[in-house]
Amino acid sequence: MQVRITVSFPYEAPVSQSLFERASAVTPGGVNSPVRAFRAVGGTPRFMVSGTGPYLTDADGREYVDLVCSWGPMILGHSHPEVIAAVQEAVARGTSFGTPGAGEVELAEEIVARVEPVEQVRLVSSGTEATMSAIRLARGFTGRPKVVKFAGCYHGHVDALLAAAGSGVATFGLPDTPGVTGAQAGDTLVLPYNDLAAVRAAFAAHPGEIACVITEASPGNMGVVPPLPGFNQGLKDLCADNGALFLSDEVMTGFRVSKSGWYGIDGVRPDLMTFGKVMGGGFPAAAFGGRADVMAHLAPAGPVYQAGTLSGNPIATAAGVTQLRLLDDAAYEKVDAVSAELRELVTAALTKEGVAHRLQAAGNMFSVFFTGADVTNYDQARAQESFRFTAFFHSMLAQGVYLPPSAFESWFVSTAHDTQAVERIAAALPAAARAAAEATE
Ligand code: PLP
Repeated sequence: MQVRITVSFPYEAPVSQSLFERASAVTPGGVNSPVRAFRAVGGTPRFMVSGTGPYLTDADGREYVDLVCSWGPMILGHSHPEVIAAVQEAVARGTSFGTPGAGEVELAEEIVARVEPVEQVRLVSSGTEATMSAIRLARGFTGRPKVVKFAGCYHGHVDALLAAAGSGVATFGLPDTPGVTGAQAGDTLVLPYNDLAAVRAAFAAHPGEIACVITEASPGNMGVVPPLPGFNQGLKDLCADNGALFLSDEVMTGFRVSKSGWYGIDGVRPDLMTFGKVMGGGFPAAAFGGRADVMAHLAPAGPVYQAGTLSGNPIATAAGVTQLRLLDDAAYEKVDAVSAELRELVTAALTKEGVAHRLQAAGNMFSVFFTGADVTNYDQARAQESFRFTAFFHSMLAQGVYLPPSAFESWFVSTAHDTQAVERIAAALPAAARAAAEATE
């Protein structure tokens, strides 16, 4: 994709630049996950060397207020002392046993206790694995082949779900990806988000064929686009009426927007759910779970195969359990309050410069769309003036604020974002808003 840069880079990052050159020689595009590469905004990706509380420090020694939080997991900020202590304690006991361990039981119990529809849960190592396995289970349970997903929702890089996906796929404007065959994607029906009539029509057109409807509980991968009132309940009802499972992907929202994720906000009861990010405390841990009668179909209890050498890894579970236990009501109140304060500051700065925008939030997740119209689906998200985000992003970066390097991603805050961090963001916003106002395509 051709990216036109409309801002100059008045700051240097020579060490990151040299690391990026070395990385590009040995790793495709120089990164291990595409959206880290700054392709959508241009410039040199920052190589981070440490994180403390709300701050990241790059290889050139510059400090940034972090509004990415590792794409969600670092809800207590970086290097939280209790999480670090739990990890150090666990690591001293050994790093992987390939047997069951107490940490897995504790993490599973913590998830089941927080999210009522989850009667049983299986731990895996990434959100992608969680959604892939949950879809296999839905197909195995129902004996049906087809899956409904929504344009702009990202569920990891599962072959069958890389159709009109959000996140990096949205950032790079790829409608699909080479390497996914027609057969792999052929049982996936992609529908417009927030459109119950389209779901109704899909069930009518494919009677007895749809295993499940998968949706982000509240999407954050096309920017933040919450479900319209009644949308998730409508999905649940249509699934129930048609013998399909309702699969809510809470990899991003789970344990972030409330103690029990988006389920804690809208109360719509899914048959299956997926989790990742926050539940791993910054380590590779994810999960899928739900109705006990459905989960009973999973090996070794049932015939649907699923496995993992490092699933339930003792370090990851120690970090995850510790982080979840620290996330009490007061922690969520803090994250919600910081998010609300930042949203007000961003809107005020953009409004002052006359920049048309929509700031959309789902709990404490939020993002800015550079458009004058409401955004309720992927087409509307893509219609925004993302060149304004590019200018905004680089101005913030130059002033020491690290935003997601794409207009199609949620911003994340943590309990560690204190007054000082918020003031640093507030100080950077006027110039960034001006840059957005002056940007040209
Ligand atoms: N599902 C959602 C909603 C996500 O946001 C993501 C990642 O951003 C995934 C699944 C995939 O998770 P992972 O990157 O851990 O594979």
